[in-house]
Amino acid sequence: MAVLQQRWDPLSRTTRFHTFACRPRRIFAAVTPTTRTTTTSRPDRNLVVVEPRLPSSSSTPSSVARRKTEIDPSELESTWAHRAWVTAGCTTLFVSLGKALLGSFQSHIWVEPSLAALLGYFLADLGSGVYHWGIDNYGGAETPFFGGQIAAFQGHHRFPWTITRRQFANNLHALARAVAFSVLPLDLWNADPVVHAFACAFAGCIMFSQQFHAWAHDNKTRLPRAVVALQDAGVLVSRAQHAAHHRAPYSNNYCIVSGAWNRFLDENKVLEAMEMVIFFRFGTRPRSWSEPGSSWAEEIQTSRADTEHLQAS
Ligand SMILES: [Zn+2]
Ligand SMILES: [Zn+2]
Repeated sequence: MAVLQQRWDPLSRTTRFHTFACRPRRIFAAVTPTTRTTTTSRPDRNLVVVEPRLPSSSSTPSSVARRKTEIDPSELESTWAHRAWVTAGCTTLFVSLGKALLGSFQSHIWVEPSLAALLGYFLADLGSGVYHWGIDNYGGAETPFFGGQIAAFQGHHRFPWTITRRQFANNLHALARAVAFSVLPLDLWNADPVVHAFACAFAGCIMFSQQFHAWAHDNKTRLPRAVVALQDAGVLVSRAQHAAHHRAPYSNNYCIVSGAWNRFLDENKVLEAMEMVIFFRFGTRPRSWSEPGSSWAEEIQTSRADTEHLQAS
């Protein structure tokens, strides 16, 4: 059984093999592709195999006991309930957008709604960062209302690559549900085009932040050119910026809309200050103080499709 060294690149779903000259902390071990299949049946391209990183830098490839965890592909697929919630969220957003455009057209006022929409986009990035920071660091799967999101984001830190394989509605449904309930009252009882311009931009960016997040994890060669251009222009969170969130100390670059707020929040230690306030006020420690490096560690992922790619290259 041949043994090679490899590392997991969070921006790529493929596993790259390296020489021993790689940085030690980024070195992992894995069996060659032929040992990953336990059956001689036709390869299932959807079957995902996870292998844990080495438990410590002192471990040698030969001393590593391997564990393979198969992720059920159905967990990444959209259900009709997911699609219904995304449809509901999009419907409330379109109604809000229509009211903003119609109100602006009738009043001949375009500057204020346009500025409100820009403000909504700008603040959505901040909102995504604060929310992401909150569910990364506090609570658990048992937390009321947010438990599902907390568990999903904690799982994302162990298996970051799964987000690129989640189907669209599966990835967006939780935020779409929140948007549907939040924007619906405005759709029903508000007619101010400025309010709708802000709400539509803010809520829309929040709802689609998980898609922007997925794009930030995907390989550049697989993304549409327009998405890559928007990432490179800073309109959407860049792949490089979000990759830093998945590296030690795992406590920065939380914003996932445009990433515009990341530098300000990180350089001024705004979120760290909030963690201190919460700790001294409530005695609650954020997860980032103790857990990175263990449960937040990236795990190597391969799939049989990736294996075929490696064999072909
Ligand atoms: Zn995170
Ligand atoms: Zn991520």
